Amino acid sequence: MKCSTMHFKTLREVPAEAEIPSHILLLRAGMIRKLVSGVYGFMPLGWRSIRKIEDIVRQEMDASGGQEIHMSAIQPAELWQESGRWSAYGPELWRLKDRNDRDFCLGPTHEEIFTDIVRNDISSYRQLPMNLYQIQTKYRDEARPRFGLMRSREFIMKDAYSFDRDEAGLDESYRIMYEAYGRIFTRCGLTFRPVEADSGAIGGSNSHEFTALSEVGESEIAYCEKCSMAATTERAECVDAKAMDDAELPMEEVHTPGTSTIEAVADYLGLDKSQTMKALLFVKYDEQGQEDGYVAAFVRGDRELNMTKLVNALDIPEHAIAFADEESMGAATGCVGGFTGPVGLHDCTIVVDSELPGQKNLCAGACKVDHHIKNVNYGRDYTGDIVTDIKVLGEGDPCPVCGAPVKYARGIEVGQVFKLGTKYSESMGAYYKDENMESYPIVMGCYGIGVSRTLAAVVEQHHDDNGIIWPMSVAPYHVIITLMKPDDEVQSGVAEKIYDALLDAGVEVMLDDRKERPGVKFKDADLLGIPLRITVGRGAADGMVEYKLRRDAERTDMTVEEAIAEAIRIVNEERNG
Ligand code: ATP
Ligand code: MG
Repeated sequence: MKCSTMHFKTLREVPAEAEIPSHILLLRAGMIRKLVSGVYGFMPLGWRSIRKIEDIVRQEMDASGGQEIHMSAIQPAELWQESGRWSAYGPELWRLKDRNDRDFCLGPTHEEIFTDIVRNDISSYRQLPMNLYQIQTKYRDEARPRFGLMRSREFIMKDAYSFDRDEAGLDESYRIMYEAYGRIFTRCGLTFRPVEADSGAIGGSNSHEFTALSEVGESEIAYCEKCSMAATTERAECVDAKAMDDAELPMEEVHTPGTSTIEAVADYLGLDKSQTMKALLFVKYDEQGQEDGYVAAFVRGDRELNMTKLVNALDIPEHAIAFADEESMGAATGCVGGFTGPVGLHDCTIVVDSELPGQKNLCAGACKVDHHIKNVNYGRDYTGDIVTDIKVLGEGDPCPVCGAPVKYARGIEVGQVFKLGTKYSESMGAYYKDENMESYPIVMGCYGIGVSRTLAAVVEQHHDDNGIIWPMSVAPYHVIITLMKPDDEVQSGVAEKIYDALLDAGVEVMLDDRKERPGVKFKDADLLGIPLRITVGRGAADGMVEYKLRRDAERTDMTVEEAIAEAIRIVNEERNG
């Protein structure tokens, strides 16, 4: 494509709303265009890269036995009511009505739709296993859309669904997808880590996230360098502190003025934070958004509460709980902001972290302003309605598998695979008959890739101060020919010759024949991140050009023929990732 006739507009300034490199660079390179918050369009260069990622996804999905279909983004509420998610999904679900007041949503994911297909089309074990997928636009009315393509309200996702007759079949389908994901992200040029993950609102029992490592990522992962443990911090199991066999001392109420934080009370009483316990207070909401009872969660004073584990323990969606207003909660339950302990608390669900029963003589709030109680012991002084692991596995804590200190890293969740089991097939009635004509629910898995988020993740991992550095496999074009003087007949003749030779060889090439200063062209070429630049300038008269890979600082003078041959070689070597 010749730049003189191409639609692209680069920006010198950093757009005000953009904070992270991928957002800044994709906007500056003119690859994406914002419409409203969390809604972006793709311009020609951006769309080419999206299609490259889609092609990689398609090739690997097809090679793994997937069959591509394409479903509507509009979904009728009835299907979501059948699965129970019409209410469970919460405000992220983009709901709308038609002119007859019938409810619909814009699909944030498609489990219901795909389950509906198979319940109509699959009746026999002979039709299983099966894997259907699509690459399609998804809608989520995110609370905080940000970072451009990273967390948007409209985005492109590949979603696949597997259908098997039993758990063993699902294990195999899951393994095949897990391996395909590894190949997909490798081919896109990403450095990533598959980590154990929570299954969230989608449900199911077993899940991994594929996380592209990046400082700007919103996913936090805990991993162990000694063994292979790697999990999101939401999911990571935490080893309980060793149970103590200290004698239980009598409770003692103490005056602790102004000590409404764990730090303050530990300081005041000369205790380690691990000798205290802290309370976190919540209000629950029912499906109509009405208050539906209070929750007090207790963890040891030096621990952090893990919200994902808490909502899982309560078996409610994340949006059905929020921090309580301590004044109204106090009237109903006896809690006192900053001084809440389990003793004397009433009329709320008490969730106790699994390690607290083994800890002795802890200091807790007294449910009385400026007072704490020393020597509080589980069983004797309080109990929990639920006792389970609700704490965060902290950096440096012992690895739950091997005990070595755990490390933390940040990353971008680019894909997730789930074992759904029979959650949807049972609620929506998707059954098959086995050899003996007995009926069983189809066992399902689902597998998502954020295609547009992957594009942003690639930019996060491949850029420098001057712009993007596309891996060949997802670059909008492989080569850019920078023509210094378009008016110079010799130079433009040489540039056209290289252009034609590369096109003939199947190389995707841009020819920058714009009437711009060379400095502008070099800046744009760097910003756009085209992997290989061939500069045609004064040397053209002697049949010489300059060859430069975007990722290297080095420039090499070559003959026109050498440059063409070298370009074809490297593009073919790297174009498939
Ligand atoms: P997150 O935790 O980041 O909100 P999720 O776990 O809810 O994502 P999934 O339901 O697993 O997302 O969706 C599959 C994939 O779709 C994700 O792995 C991610 O790559 C992508 N994705 C999800 N939400 C968004 C979004 N708002 N914008 C862009 N991509 C998204
Ligand atoms: Mg996910």
